Amino acid sequence: SFLLDKYKPEAALFRATSQGTDVSAASAAKLGFGLCTDCIDIKVDGGQIKLTRAAFGGNYTVTVVNEKAKPQITTVRPKAFAMPEKDASKQGEIVKESFSVAEGDLNTQIIEFITSEVTVNLVEADIIVSGGRGVGSDEGFKLLKDLADTLGAAVGASRAAVDSGWIAYEHQIGQTGKTVKPKIYIACGISGAIQHLAGMRTSDCIVAINKDPDAPIFKNASYGIVGDYKQIVPKMIEKFKSKLNK
Ligand SMILES: Cc1cc2nc3c(=O)[nH]c(=O)nc-3n(C[C@H](O)[C@H](O)[C@H](O)COP(=O)(O)OP(=O)(O)OC[C@H]3O[C@@H](n4cnc5c(N)ncnc54)[C@H](O)[C@@H]3O)c2cc1C
Repeated sequence: SFLLDKYKPEAALFRATSQGTDVSAASAAKLGFGLCTDCIDIKVDGGQIKLTRAAFGGNYTVTVVNEKAKPQITTVRPKAFAMPEKDASKQGEIVKESFSVAEGDLNTQIIEFITSEVTVNLVEADIIVSGGRGVGSDEGFKLLKDLADTLGAAVGASRAAVDSGWIAYEHQIGQTGKTVKPKIYIACGISGAIQHLAGMRTSDCIVAINKDPDAPIFKNASYGIVGDYKQIVPKMIEKFKSKLNK
């Protein structure tokens, strides 16, 4: 809030992580500004900054304009925007600021770091093998893990799979999970609900495996395989193992 007060920028962007959301909300509250969280698009139109975010469970997107207060404070999901080509004509100035906080002013203290059981960083992974309710059990996720290990991929999941207790929340992809943009996203037994698509639709290549030929995921897929994942995934593992000499 100190920097926002000092520089009074038009817009202030924070990462939509738990820390970014904490700091942006506290800054907005302290300075009396508005806050638009989980922004998926930003446009400058007629001198106004227009922020787009999902609303009503992801069924609508709304455009938010904060006319009264500047800066427009927003949190932006990692990987929600495609990386633009480098443009040498655009130059920015990096201003380094230092700050110090007295220990007595801190309300919380870090006692220890516990390493997450998630070994591959889902957000940074190039390939993700993801499972939904159609995977049916934690045994089913072991099969997906075999495919992921063969490809050097991370394992993702829909909320339905997480809520069923087959896999930990850290793996959840979508509106209330992580946003990912891998080179290849393999969706097994996932119907393609809008809240799931919100977290993976910008993947470079989407491969959908679903036994229902009318599943909405196929509308967003680069490649679709209609069938039971229990028959298809073992064949993929076998093929990839022989292709990759594993
Ligand atoms: C506010 C809100 C936030 C939400 N946030 C998220 C979120 O972050 N992430 C998320 O994923 N969801 C989220 N949801 C839930 C979302 O609406 C869907 O309910 C959920 O994504 C459905 O998960 P699914 O596709 O795994 O299950 P389902 O929709 O039940 O689909 C299962 C699919 O598996 C297929 N199938 C079944 N058996 C097999 C088989 N043997 N082989 C191949 N295919 C098979 C079926 O044909 C079906 O298409 C949210 C909902 C709300 C309201």
